This record gives sequence, C-alpha cells and structure tokens, in this order.
Amino acid sequence: MPALFQISEPGASHAKEACTTAAVGIDLGTTNSLVGIVLGDGKPRALAVDEGSTLLPSVVHYGEGGGPGSVVVGRAARRLAADFPRDTIVSVKRFMGRSSADPETKRLSPYRFAEGASGVVRFVVDGGRIVNPVEVSAEILRALRTRAEERLGIKVHQAVITVPAYFDDAQRQATKEAGRLAGLEVLRLLNEPTAAALAYGLDKRSRGMFAVYDLGGGTFDISILQLQEGVFEVKAVGGDSALGGDDFDRALAEILLQGREHTPRLVREAIDAAKQAKEELTRAEVTEAFGKRVTRPQLEEAIRPLIEKTGLAVRRALKDVGQKVDGVILVGGSTRVPAVRRYVAELFGMEPLADIDPDEVVALGAAVQANLLTAESPQHDVLLLDVAPLSLGLETMGGLVEKLILRNTTIPANATQEFTTFADAQTGMDIHVVQGERELVKDCRSLAKFTLSGIPPLPAGFARVAVTFQVDADGILSVTAKEQLTGVSQSITVKPSHGLTDEEIERMLLASIEHAEEDVQARLLIDNRVEAQRIVKAVEKQVENNGDLLEPHEREEIENAVADLKGAVAGSDHHKIKSEIERLDKVSADFAKRVMDRGIERALKGHAVDEFDKGELSPHAQKAYSALQDTEDPA
Ligand code: ADP
Ligand code: MG
Repeated sequence: MPALFQISEPGASHAKEACTTAAVGIDLGTTNSLVGIVLGDGKPRALAVDEGSTLLPSVVHYGEGGGPGSVVVGRAARRLAADFPRDTIVSVKRFMGRSSADPETKRLSPYRFAEGASGVVRFVVDGGRIVNPVEVSAEILRALRTRAEERLGIKVHQAVITVPAYFDDAQRQATKEAGRLAGLEVLRLLNEPTAAALAYGLDKRSRGMFAVYDLGGGTFDISILQLQEGVFEVKAVGGDSALGGDDFDRALAEILLQGREHTPRLVREAIDAAKQAKEELTRAEVTEAFGKRVTRPQLEEAIRPLIEKTGLAVRRALKDVGQKVDGVILVGGSTRVPAVRRYVAELFGMEPLADIDPDEVVALGAAVQANLLTAESPQHDVLLLDVAPLSLGLETMGGLVEKLILRNTTIPANATQEFTTFADAQTGMDIHVVQGERELVKDCRSLAKFTLSGIPPLPAGFARVAVTFQVDADGILSVTAKEQLTGVSQSITVKPSHGLTDEEIERMLLASIEHAEEDVQARLLIDNRVEAQRIVKAVEKQVENNGDLLEPHEREEIENAVADLKGAVAGSDHHKIKSEIERLDKVSADFAKRVMDRGIERALKGHAVDEFDKGELSPHAQKAYSALQDTEDPA
C-alpha cells in the first residue's frame, strides 16, 4: 500500500526538548508584532519585548542611525523613521510575497527599490545595502525571538506564525522563509482569525459560525469562520487593505491642524499628537493635543465615515456566507475605540467578544497552537489538521501533474475536475494520485493508483470522467472517478499514515521553488508535445478517410506541415512545436471545414454517430484538459 496524505505529525519529534527550549506563537503584524507563550499554568501570555511593552512596532532601521551596517528594530527604529525615511522600513508585511511589478508595491513607498530582473521587491538601504521583504521580516522575527529568550531564560527554536486568512501561497511561503532566516522552525502558519478564535477557546465548542473583526493600524480584515467538530474553516474573507487606525490619526490631525500651516514637519507632528490623543480618548472623555482641547465626541465625528466603511465589507462577507453568526471577536488595536465597539455591536446585533486584549489575542492564540503542537499527547488532533501541507493531484498525459487540491487548502475540502480520453475507443483510465508541488509526476510522491474500466468506447476526447478528491476532517483522502455517460465509477480511500515528516515536506517545498523555472519549461514542452501528437494523429486520420476532398497541392502542404511538426516534436524547443502546431492548424483549416460539412451531411442522412469523424482538427477548441493514460487500447 503506497502512502499517504499526511499532515505533519505534531508532538512526536518535539516533545523531548520541551524543558530547555520553548515553542512560541508569533503575530507578525503590519503595524505591531508580538510573541506569546503558554507557560506551566497552561495559560497563554504575551511577553514584554520592547521597552516594557508586549507590542514590538514592525519597523526595521538599517544603518545610519545605529551606525553603518547596524540593524535596529521596534520603538527605537520608529524614532529614527522621521530622520531616515528611506532606511527605515515600516509595514514590510504589505510587500511580502509581492513582485516588484505589482502596482501595489509602487503605491506604498518612500523607499528606494533596487532594479533587477528577479521580480522580487528589494529595498536599497544604508548607502547601498540591498534587502528584500523576507529579510526585513526576519529581522522582526529575530528581535522577537532573542528578546523572548532573554525574558524566558531558555532557547526559543520553534514558532507558530500567524498570517492573514487571505494570504496566498507566495505570501505564506515568504513568511515561512522569514521564520527560517530568523532561526526558527516554523511549526505551522496559522490564520490570524483562527488564532483569535483559539485564544477564546472556541474550538472547545462543538460547532458554530464566528466573525472575526480585525481593525489594525493600516488594514481592516473581516473573516467568517465555521467551526465543525473542532476544525475551523474560513468561509469568507473581506476587508480593506488601506483602512485602519492610521486613518483615524490623519482624520484627527486635520482637526488639530485647522488654522495652522501644513508644512511636512507640522503635519508629521500633528499625526503623532493625534495618535496619542486618539489612544487617550479611549479611556478619557477629554484630552489635550497640539495645544488644543479635544473631546471624544469630536474624535468620533471625525472617524465615523471611516468606521462605517468597514460595514460594507462585513455585509458582503455575511452575504457570501448566507448565515447568521453565533459570535463576533474583536481583534486589532483600533477595536479598542469605543465608537468602533458600538458600531460592531450594532452591525451584528450582538455584543462582540472582547475580554481578551485585542492587540494580543492573535499572538495568544498562536501560543495556544504552538503549545498544542508540541505537547506530549496532543488532545486536539483534529484541530491540527487544518490545512493540506502539500498539493494533491493526478497524473495526466505526458507525466504531468494536474493539481486538484492546492497546498494550504483548509480541510475538510473537496474538488472535482473532468478528464477525457486520449485515444479513440479508449475504455480504461489509470488514475494515479500524487502529492507535491512539482509539475512532473516523477518529482512528486505517489500516493495511490487504480483503474477505472468500463468507459464506453467513444472517439478520443468524448468520454467525460469526473474525478473527485475529498479530504475529510481527519485528513483522510478519498478519490472517486465516475464516467458521466454510464455512471460507472470507482473509488479509493487513502488513509493518513505517518508518511511524511516535517523535514520531508520542507524539502519538497524547497525543491519546488528551486526548480520552478525548469519545471515550467518541462511542462510547456510536454504540453506542446502531447498537443502535437494529438493533432498529427487526427490530421493523418482525416487525410486517410477523406483524402478525396483534397486538391493535390493542398495534400502536399498538409503533409509537409505534418512532417515538420513531427520534426519539432523530436526536438525540445516548445516554441518551435507550438508554431508548427499553429501552421498545421492553419493549412488544414479549410480541409477540416469540408470534413465537418461532409459529416453533418451524413449525419442528416441518418448515418450512425461513430461514423461521423468529429472535427478533431482543432484540438485548441477542445476545452477539456484531456487525457489520462490509456490502459486498454483495443487497437
Ligand atoms: P496591526 O495588526 O496592523 O499590526 P495593531 O492591531 O497593532 O495593528 O493595531 C495598531 C493600531 O491600534 C494603531 O493605529 C494604534 O493607534 C491603535 N491603537 C492601539 N491602542 C489603542 C487605543 N487604546 N485606542 C485606540 N487605538 C489604539
Ligand atoms: Mg493584526
């Protein structure tokens, strides 16, 4: 029995070192980052890591202020930002996993970017030094790690790091890479809203629908999670990547600046004063800023339109889910603002959960998860099985992998895709299930094989076989193949077993990054070869059966094009194959049309369908991603 779809095995390898090292939870935030840990009493807490505060501003300063070659992180870096704006990277999270071509990157920048072909964003800092977002994030993580170690007096080697629920694969990959650069073994990436739900112990309930309303410094995120038997599934996400507490600061600064000059320096000072006043007004009714008396109602009036903007995204997300929620969790420093709380209560028609500090709740949830993952006997097995660690797919013609369930998909999950036959009258298909990120079957891990037989004999490309992958909450994968016309079906269950270690998963992921370019080239070559073989086969058959429709010079032209295409297929230049396919397509287009017309004529006269050679001359038009291997070619 080959094996297996396996989600990392927590506990097994990590438990023994628990006394001398610790696993922490890290909230790597846009504005602030935190580190949390579960200590002996079983409760998570956030560690003071920056001048007595649990919040480490996500700011990294390179060079000048701290001396050439130096790196300063946190509050000290933030103080240097005004004088060295280009050497001080703030909100680096916005750049994670983005390419330099991304318009978003250009929009957000006082920075100098290095030119380069690689497509990765790179900042030029400290008189010529080049750093990328992963390296900048790693500095934040390293600061959190070493400061936590100082606090705890033990080594910190492992961490659960949180990411926004909407982070894509590249962004997650970049975050994980940053952890590794910072000397951390990343036990898992955890969605921020899921972390918040864990901090509230919601996983101990049996089921429910929960909204997580996260208003931070520069971003607003709304996520709707469904809890079912201990598994959180992200049902909807939404938000505004340019809305947060910083906008509150600017709105209040406008009031402070009324009747005053708007020089850059004054504006900056007003914004700093506004931020402080805003935070004070969460507790007090009145405060002073910039030589002015400011009241809470004044602040509330200034920020009301901003708060109401969040309602739009919330309603949309609720509509997507189409269900009422059972609870709302507040996350992010800006949800401390009383007006925000009132608005959320009104919007959802219920009091939000807010007992846990909204700044810390994500880090605390990550700490809970880290603790579970490293415990001697994890009790929440199911909870741990929240994402597929590697993609799952099928072998298609030419040894290529077609992925059905992508890595990091929340489980339970299922996906269905239709496949078709490659050869005429093909009655069987080999279904080969593989796991991994690479493009070629030979570079992935083989999980299972089975054969679907009893497909009715039809022309190539006509049978429709729906293959469904289903991963249940326990991580068990079942694969079903069903021929749509006759309903004949076949399925197999792949039980999870201890097949892959974290290291193996890691290695497979790294290999997929390393070989990305080469894989794409290989895929293109195989795709084009398969396509070429199909068109050659089809054209030759038509010439044989309907050659009488061709003028001699047409026949010669087609035969030349076929010969050239065959020549190209023997080589390894996919561009060449593609252009020869196009040429053959073009020179045979008229002929194809004549064959079609004849077919229709015959059909109208009552000939059987199988005599009717479907116009296969333009396989481009054939949408179905075709063709598993032929197991029972009757020919
Ligand atoms: P992020 O998730 O983007 O890293 P945070 O959750 O740390 O951000 O939120 C930072 C924001 O919270 C800042 O705009 C800050 O001014 C705001 N904030 C923090 N404390 C308070 C408070 N007491 N009252 C109002 N706003 C606050
Ligand atoms: Mg946050």
